[in-house]
Amino acid sequence: MGREVHQNRPHAEVVGGHCFGNGSKNRNCVLVGDTGVITLALSKGRIFDETLPLLKAAGIKPADDPEKSRKLVIATNRADVKIIIVRASDVPTYVQYGAADMGIAGKDVLLEHGGDGLYQPLDLRIARCRMMVAVPNEFDYESAVRQGARLRVATKYVKTAREHFGAKGVHVDLIKLYGSMELAPLAGLAEAIVDLVSSGNTLKANNLRPVEEIMPISSRLIVNQAALKLKRNSVQPMIGAFSAAVARSKK
Ligand code: ATP
Ligand code: MG
Repeated sequence: MGREVHQNRPHAEVVGGHCFGNGSKNRNCVLVGDTGVITLALSKGRIFDETLPLLKAAGIKPADDPEKSRKLVIATNRADVKIIIVRASDVPTYVQYGAADMGIAGKDVLLEHGGDGLYQPLDLRIARCRMMVAVPNEFDYESAVRQGARLRVATKYVKTAREHFGAKGVHVDLIKLYGSMELAPLAGLAEAIVDLVSSGNTLKANNLRPVEEIMPISSRLIVNQAALKLKRNSVQPMIGAFSAAVARSKK
C-alpha cells in the first residue's frame, strides 16, 4: 500500500506507514493533514458553554452559537482554528482518528472510550460532577451488598460500572441504557443505577438516593497523538493557553 490521499481532504495522508499509536494493539489509522488548521471537537450544551472562557483565554471566539445555529462546523475569529460540534460520546472517536486534532470530553466518556490514540494533557476542571451508584430510597443497598445479592444495575457507563463492582466483589447484571437512568428503578428495570450526579436534585425528584461515589468527573482536553507531533507549533500554544486559564481559575 502506498500513501493514500483522501479526495475530500486534499492534504491529508495516512501517517507513519498507516498507523500511529502504542504498539500493535492500536490499529487506528490516523489522518493528519497539516493544512495549518486546527480542528477542535466540542459537544454543545454544558461543555461548549464552559469551554468558551478557555477559548477566550486562547484568543479564540466562535463565529456562531451552536444552540442557535444548525451548523456543525463553526468558524472562529482565527483562520487557523475551527470547531466541529459532535455528540459528547463521539468526541474521543473524532480525535482518535484524526478527524479532529483536539477535543474536550468528560472523564466519564473517556473511560468508556478507553483513550486509545489519545493524549490527555490537561484536566480542564469544567463540567464537574460525580459518578455515583444510586438506588430507590426504600431499597436497602447495604444489606443487599452484604448478603452477596446479585444486583441489576442500569447505566450508560457499563465499563466503569463493571470495573467498580468487580473491584468490590459485588455481583451485578449490567443493563446498558442511553439516557434517563433514573427511570430504570422506578419502572422495575433495575435495582440500582450508575449515573452522573451534580446537585442530586434529579435523584431526589425521582425518590432515589446516592449510595456510593465511584469517582469525581471533570472534562479533559484530548489531543490526537499524531497531531501532537505533526502540528506541534499550533497545538502546543493552545495547550499552554488552556493550561494557564485553568491555573488562573483555580485561584
Ligand atoms: P447526550 O446528551 O448526547 O446523550 P450527554 O448527556 O453525555 O450526551 P451532556 O449532558 O452535555 O451530554 O454531558 C456532557 C458531559 O458533561 C458529560 O460527559 C459529563 O462529563 C458532564 N456532565 C454530565 N452531567 C453533568 C452534570 N449534571 N453536571 C456537570 N457535568 C455533567
Ligand atoms: Mg445529558
